[in-house]
Amino acid sequence: MSVLQALTDAIRDSSVEVIDLTAPLSAETPIIQLPEPFGNTARFGLTEISHYDERGPAWYWNDIVTGEHTGTHFDAPVHWVTGKDGEDVARVPVTRLIAPAVVLDFSAEAAADPDFLLEIEHVKQWEAEHGPLPEGWLLYRTGWDARSSDQAAFLNANETGPHTPGISVSCAIWLAEQSPVIGLGTETVGTDAGAAHSFDPPFPCHSSLLGAGKYGLTQLQNLARLPVTGAVVIAGPLPIVSGSGSPCRALALVERS
Ligand code: MN
Repeated sequence: MSVLQALTDAIRDSSVEVIDLTAPLSAETPIIQLPEPFGNTARFGLTEISHYDERGPAWYWNDIVTGEHTGTHFDAPVHWVTGKDGEDVARVPVTRLIAPAVVLDFSAEAAADPDFLLEIEHVKQWEAEHGPLPEGWLLYRTGWDARSSDQAAFLNANETGPHTPGISVSCAIWLAEQSPVIGLGTETVGTDAGAAHSFDPPFPCHSSLLGAGKYGLTQLQNLARLPVTGAVVIAGPLPIVSGSGSPCRALALVERS
């Protein structure tokens, strides 16, 4: 049997499960809030064109408003100044949009400390247990998706800024330069920690990974339903010409025995 016939049969009989890693996209979807003087992104919005009415008797449709980085979305290398000569989102090769994924679960640590940072030693310990990181996605589970229906809880900001888990400077550089991963997927509003504005250099995941031609996937959900290894992620950003990223449907294929 052909590989693709076997795959579609397996999806139909649920021996391969399809898990949606995407947050619902609505006006309530949390968005990042940068302080003055920086610009901010748009909330998702729908503007009705017609709804089976005099504007269009048999059809319903809307215009949409969205930021490229609104909701579950894909960061292309050009999003960051370190990647300014890299791929825009329309130029990301489609073969890179289907890739194996592993899950590093630090939800207990993030529950105890919202500023928890993943370190190189955590990743090396994970590799000692589960094998080397793939040429694919590192999906960093923190449990933050449980907060995604509440902007305040999701951003978790106080007078010192947002407090959400992330990755240390040294680990971000190591993932960018030493590891085979093609990208980092997180459950938080961006790939960097909430406090990463104060890191040296700031926003190390954006700076290092996008600068190395790698990608980001953020505001993912349902990572708890994935195996530690063995899932395949299909990420579908829109091919926005010259775009820095795009809202993205992210699906995972998981083999069930
Ligand atoms: Mn982004």
